[in-house]
Amino acid sequence: AKESGGGGRMEIYAAHMHAMVVGRLELQTQLRQALAGGEFLLEYQPVVDLQSSQVTAVEALVRWEHGDTRVMPEGFIGAAEESGLIIPLGEWILREACEKVALWRASDWDIALSVNLSVKQILAPRFVETVAGVLADSGLPAEVLTMEVDEEVLLEDQGEAVERLAQLRRLGVRLAIDDFGMDYASLAHLRELRVDTIKIDPSFIRDLGSDGTVTLLTHTIIRLGQDLGVQVVAEGIEHTAQLEQLRSMGCGYGQGFLVARPMVAEGVEALVGGELGIPL
Ligand code: C2E
Ligand code: MG
Ligand code: MG
Ligand code: MG
Repeated sequence: AKESGGGGRMEIYAAHMHAMVVGRLELQTQLRQALAGGEFLLEYQPVVDLQSSQVTAVEALVRWEHGDTRVMPEGFIGAAEESGLIIPLGEWILREACEKVALWRASDWDIALSVNLSVKQILAPRFVETVAGVLADSGLPAEVLTMEVDEEVLLEDQGEAVERLAQLRRLGVRLAIDDFGMDYASLAHLRELRVDTIKIDPSFIRDLGSDGTVTLLTHTIIRLGQDLGVQVVAEGIEHTAQLEQLRSMGCGYGQGFLVARPMVAEGVEALVGGELGIPL
């Protein structure tokens, strides 16, 4: 009897775990069906040159149209990584985005593309060949494609992922460190991997102006980029004051809801065709 309380809790815990595991498996099954059924779609978020206010690139961001709900990446990328589905899904994303941007470029629009990568994809067999194949099929020049890798990938890696990224780099593909936060290990990779772009973590941009240390660090990242010849993109710009401050610090590029939200391809075409309705 003295164990019953704890045992009861264990049962509840086990039931909860069971529900979670079943939920996870169900989600993984649904995701597999979603890929086969064409339920994924891409939105593209413009990246602008902060000096000229021109859109220079778009970042492809995946969404899942599941019945009436649009599921954001936080809701499924983790499960896709766990199940390995991220490998065919990532290939679909890359192919879809490269084809779209190749079309835009064929209509005389000088635009570049960024695509996010999961470490699972990078470590998949034939990853580099897959990227090379998609580039060849779409006709997109390798230099136009930037692959974004989260800072943690570089921090936790035992070397294999970094080697694959170096191979991508040799294809001519550009590399970006996403959610960059001045970690020493990723600083070292800037040189070693010849990273082309760093994307300043939105948490820095949020506290710009209100937090002196963050402001100083942001300025330092921007100067570091200038010194190393690495492009710097500020992510998560939501307010004009942030935009002005980044401009005055000499930050090259910006991305955020103030500039433009992620939107479907037709939205990007309308935005660019109609000369940016962007408050810059
Ligand atoms: P990320 O690569 O850092 O992408 C930027 C995220 O910030 C996007 O969220 C974007 O909608 C959001 N964002 C942009 N501007 C603002 C702003 O001004 N304010 C705020 N609050 N948010 C802003 P999203 O689309 O939900 O994607 C979240 C993350 O999911 C991405 O972060 C990326 O790590 C991952 N992800 C998205 N698409 C893909 C993909 O195709 N493949 C992989 N492997 N991961 C992806
Ligand atoms: Mg990104
Ligand atoms: Mg990312
Ligand atoms: Mg980011």
